[in-house]
Amino acid sequence: MLEPLLGCRIIRVDGYDTDRLGTFTREVARAGTQLEAARAKARIGMDLSSLAIGLASEGSFGSHPSVGLLAWNVELLIWIDDELGLEIIGSAAGNTNFSHRLAASWEEARQFARETGFPEHWLVVRPESEEHPQIHKGIAGWDELESVFRRCSDLAVNGRAFLETDMRAHGNPTRMELISAAARDLAQKLCRRCPECAAPGFHAVERITGLPCEECGAPTKVARAETYRCARCRHQLIVEIRGPKTASAARCDYCNP
Ligand SMILES: [Zn+2]
Ligand SMILES: [Zn+2]
Repeated sequence: MLEPLLGCRIIRVDGYDTDRLGTFTREVARAGTQLEAARAKARIGMDLSSLAIGLASEGSFGSHPSVGLLAWNVELLIWIDDELGLEIIGSAAGNTNFSHRLAASWEEARQFARETGFPEHWLVVRPESEEHPQIHKGIAGWDELESVFRRCSDLAVNGRAFLETDMRAHGNPTRMELISAAARDLAQKLCRRCPECAAPGFHAVERITGLPCEECGAPTKVARAETYRCARCRHQLIVEIRGPKTASAARCDYCNP
């Protein structure tokens, strides 16, 4: 999807085990932030391929920032161009099946699998607890799930098996879709050129609030414009947001305190 838009051929760089940078199943903890991890991956690819342009993605999972019970996935896609001195980030966030359960019976395990979109979405199973070292990843069929579940719960001191969603992109179509959305966001950003230096990636970095209230005209917290900035020469431009010229009085601190 990115190739025709960018006019680049994307090559996957082999010869490096990205699990060394962190796994979703906690054998290796990720060092640093999500963005730092994406940047490190892109840099490794650029080193191994001796190319001046790098592309890498990194996902993170947790709860929704305000709706605590909702499982939330943020995907970042980083584009580094050393010739132009550019770093552009595409992102997307959405609901996900990220979840786990300590199951005491096959019925319970089957229920969890159904809830998490198995078998299209793969599962990871291990005996006893989330820390048990005997880990089975990439489980993608009912028969396999049942036999692994039985083996794991037989091994466990507490008679249970720990099940969790496999968050690796190739085993998780929901995540794959979000990575595509992040790629579209990146492509959109890269396709706009800076009016000053013509570098790609002239994009909105900030929203400016203050759209006037429809009743009293006071500035509200509703955005009225966006600041576009070039990642290369720092040239910036304030662009008015198209749409209504006033904000609803319901959003006004004076009319609706
Ligand atoms: Zn520029
Ligand atoms: Zn008002």
